[in-house]
Amino acid sequence: MKLISACLLGAKCRWDGNHNQNDRAMNLIKKEVFLPVCPEQLGGLSTPRARQEIKGGSGKDVLDKKAKVINQEGDDVTEQFIRGAEETLKIAQLYKIKEFIGKSLSPSCSCIKIYDGTFSGKIRNGRGITAELLTRNGISIRGEEDL
Ligand code: SF4
Repeated sequence: MKLISACLLGAKCRWDGNHNQNDRAMNLIKKEVFLPVCPEQLGGLSTPRARQEIKGGSGKDVLDKKAKVINQEGDDVTEQFIRGAEETLKIAQLYKIKEFIGKSLSPSCSCIKIYDGTFSGKIRNGRGITAELLTRNGISIRGEEDL
């Protein structure tokens, strides 16, 4: 079994109440068992919610308390993002899951690149918070772009 960002399988859990259905992921579930998770909902955020980006770093920096997650209204939602990452890790450990497939550019789920925190569409290198926490706990991560 593998964990996957729920929005990639069509769940409408994205910040704007929509999904990011990925055709390659939809094909893979015919052959493999995927457990869909949305770390932001698991962290207690509502759907829809204001857009949010990591300000001052990447998921690594958030976990190291060097950066924060701020939404487009200026609210600090760092605590909810960390809680969501921890709950996702708990589920992975419960089922002994060793691989996660993450939505690209998400401040939670991305495995390679994220938005830079300026809400201007600029992209920087770095993982989302959940992807980073999973990596730190021995779970391999793969971005949807590598499916
Ligand atoms: Fe999708 Fe992850 Fe964002 Fe939830 S937190 S909407 S699963 S990218």
